[in-house]
Amino acid sequence: MTKQRKLIHQIICLSPMHLSAEEIYFEAKKQCPSIAVGTVYRNLNLMAEEGQITKIETAGQPVRFDKNVIPHEHFFCTDCGRLFDLDLKGIKEFISEQTGMDVEGYTLSVRCRCAECRLPKGA
Ligand SMILES: [Zn+2]
Ligand SMILES: [Zn+2]
Repeated sequence: MTKQRKLIHQIICLSPMHLSAEEIYFEAKKQCPSIAVGTVYRNLNLMAEEGQITKIETAGQPVRFDKNVIPHEHFFCTDCGRLFDLDLKGIKEFISEQTGMDVEGYTLSVRCRCAECRLPKGA
């Protein structure tokens, strides 16, 4: 693992959030000012391909990266735009049962308001 890749991986692992490539680049640049944006994108894609991180594609949202490589779903908050883990099981089986089709995969796009944004403003 190159030094830069280690740095990128560390940023993803230490963040409680699901960061976009841009946010990861911003963080990486703080610690390694010479890092190129192309290096960050290339490493993110390679790490996702190798299964070290998960690439999350949500319609209408930038691609984000997750340290959690166990398959799980996400929802995004329509107020703050952050992405959160959604623990749902058996969706594939559910679709198969309902349709009688052999489901190979699916993309779920769930929009909610997160707990923080549901709090009354100014409380
Ligand atoms: Zn929110
Ligand atoms: Zn996640």
